Amino acid sequence: VDFSWTEAQLALRDRVIAFARDELNGDLARRDRDGTFLRENWDKCAAFGVLGSFVPEAYGGRGMDLLTTVLMLEGLGYGCRDNGLTLGLNGQIWSVQRPILRFGTEQQRTHFLPRLCSGEWIGAHAITEPDAGSDVFALKTTARRVEGGYILDGYKSTIGMSAVADVAVVSAATNPERGSWGITMFLVQTEWSGVRRGPARPKMGLRTVPLGDIHFEGCFVPETHRLGPEGSGMSLFNASMDWERAFIFASHVGGMARQLDECIAFAKTRQQFGTTIGKFQAVSNRIADMRLRLETSRLLLYQLAWMKQADRPAGLESSLANLHLAECFAANSMDAVRTHGARGYLAEFEVERDLRDAVGGVIYAGTSDIQRNVIARILGL
Ligand SMILES: Cc1cc2nc3c(=O)[nH]c(=O)nc-3n(C[C@H](O)[C@H](O)[C@H](O)COP(=O)(O)OP(=O)(O)OC[C@H]3O[C@@H](n4cnc5c(N)ncnc54)[C@H](O)[C@@H]3O)c2cc1C
Repeated sequence: VDFSWTEAQLALRDRVIAFARDELNGDLARRDRDGTFLRENWDKCAAFGVLGSFVPEAYGGRGMDLLTTVLMLEGLGYGCRDNGLTLGLNGQIWSVQRPILRFGTEQQRTHFLPRLCSGEWIGAHAITEPDAGSDVFALKTTARRVEGGYILDGYKSTIGMSAVADVAVVSAATNPERGSWGITMFLVQTEWSGVRRGPARPKMGLRTVPLGDIHFEGCFVPETHRLGPEGSGMSLFNASMDWERAFIFASHVGGMARQLDECIAFAKTRQQFGTTIGKFQAVSNRIADMRLRLETSRLLLYQLAWMKQADRPAGLESSLANLHLAECFAANSMDAVRTHGARGYLAEFEVERDLRDAVGGVIYAGTSDIQRNVIARILGL
């Protein structure tokens, strides 16, 4: 196993860190307080090449390999303190662009991917419903066949980027009697009549990206916008979730590295009882644990990128990584608050925001309980 990076990969990581630090953190405390999504920052990330990363150049992307993409996303999370923005970007890359690239027709790829990569359009992944959360296939949204397409009726809830998205990957029952085998995915443009979006809902963290509901009321979806064959929704969902679970937290690894550096710097300078707090074993042990969580997260992430690049099945590893990265970011965020004392708790020092943001990670892309279920099932339990 070769763990080394090329000069070019490391240079890209350094460039993205500098870009993110210089361009993406401005006025963040206020934007977090007010729940403001800044389109300008999204566009800057698109122009840098974040969204196009592994998408082939023919579809408006940069054609990078997966390991380079993951290293770039990690660097983005190190430089960018706005976890809402990095979640929005990762969500689009892994849950919208990747299924279109893998399962879309040529027409769908050329229609959607260049727009999504350039930032002209924003994509959402609309699966969850009020009564279909972890039990995703209990959905009630229906797509009834009509001449030339389908009529979509239903309601998707807690959808990231809902208020600003131009296109959403939507799951619906085309044949409700067939249960999970009767589900189909659609690419729904939010400008269409019959699509209504609720306002962004106030939330604990990740406030710089909107989370809200999307209603479909007699919305006509042309057949050209069906993703994959009719009834293939469960297979598409499982294949897409594998990627989402694997990589949605790539930028959190960078966030953990940033937290660690800041905690070390603080522990080396903050004086109590006549010495720096890093000299107290309770503090230094905590920081050692943070480093361990960071390194194990990194290894799982890089291994997955390598496996996916080699087209190997990685269902187990995807859930392991998802569970571990989400829980580690939450644990390290808590430890960063502890290490900074009251400064960790006060909003003005911008330490506590990571903790509020990290809590979302143990819920979206499958809760930690669900990841454990998947792992246990694969282990034959
Ligand atoms: C920040 C954020 C962003 C999100 N973004 C999106 C998005 O872009 N698109 C989208 O479609 N959805 C999104 N969601 C919704 C998210 O996917 C769901 O919240 C998640 O799947 C859990 O569903 P639920 O909230 O209905 O909880 P429930 O499924 O009702 O779960 C409640 C509790 O029961 C546990 N539980 C449920 N079933 C089991 C089981 N079989 N075994 C063990 N424990 C179980 C859960 O782990 C949890 O602790 C987002 C959520 C958040 C918080």
